[in-house]
Amino acid sequence: MMRILFWVALIVLVIAAIRSKIRAKIREMTPPPGHPGHPGAGPQAPMRELGATVECAHCHVYFPESEAVTANGRAYCCPEHVNLPPA
Ligand SMILES: [Zn+2]
Repeated sequence: MMRILFWVALIVLVIAAIRSKIRAKIREMTPPPGHPGHPGAGPQAPMRELGATVECAHCHVYFPESEAVTANGRAYCCPEHVNLPPA
């Protein structure tokens, strides 16, 4: 009976050791978030960062809010359109 318990314990220990080794390998192969090789930081990453779009008060073109030129409480696509009247 003791011999069976010994073998069961040994097998459990071996399986636990193999599993922890596999887990370490997976962690090694998966770069941390933000790394260029991470699956989440693919070509789709810039799409999420686009965020809100705003309309130019002059030419009514939609563009990312981060590129907006704001003047008199209005958003413009470029500094040239700030001096032009709204179309
Ligand atoms: Zn414009």
